[in-house]
Amino acid sequence: MADRIAIVEDERLVRELVAVNLRHAGYEIVSADNYEEGRALLAKQDFQLAILDVMLPGGDGFALTRHARDLGCNVPILMLTARTDTQSKVRGLDAGADDYLPKPFDVNELLARVRALLRRASGRPATAPPRLAFAGFWVRFDTGQALTNEGEVSLSDKELRLMEVFSANENRALTRTDLLEEVWGMDQFPTDRTVDNFILRLRKLFEPDPENPVHIVTLRGRGYLFRSSP
Ligand code: CA
Repeated sequence: MADRIAIVEDERLVRELVAVNLRHAGYEIVSADNYEEGRALLAKQDFQLAILDVMLPGGDGFALTRHARDLGCNVPILMLTARTDTQSKVRGLDAGADDYLPKPFDVNELLARVRALLRRASGRPATAPPRLAFAGFWVRFDTGQALTNEGEVSLSDKELRLMEVFSANENRALTRTDLLEEVWGMDQFPTDRTVDNFILRLRKLFEPDPENPVHIVTLRGRGYLFRSSP
């Protein structure tokens, strides 16, 4: 079966150039042209390598890379950027990218890097299943379905994303600001109260006794913490 490659790039000509050449080299391609669609694409985790542009409408490739790694996505990530400063390179690698290619690039070099990354990755463990299970509840991050106190339901995008963030940060304190940045993005901050309302909703779904939460707990003055067992 052909390896599938996910591309997130807003410049149409670059995206098409990369896609056409990779297809010609025998890969399957899935693509997105902005940050939000890129996140949705990465959450599916049905690809073997991702090529992410740094500057995207709605966000950046660094945050996308962190998002993919938070989800347990272990495939190689190659970042594309017009920037040639080492600062961007360091940020990309810190965020969990494997390689970095400044634009403009030679397509043959891109193909060679893709081949090398896939070769190196073939020894890595497969992507973790995109599923959280705890205390008789479960959440599927690929479909958004969840088994809750209300039976099997479809979580909203924000509810699902909150559970993804909690799952990726189990036993770690998360401030409201952390959650706002991770779930709502940097450009569209709702109020802290929005976060609290979503937490109340998640407790109704995922706490044996929502009045006395043991999984999504409040850390007074610090935010919230998720733990799968009390
Ligand atoms: Ca761009």
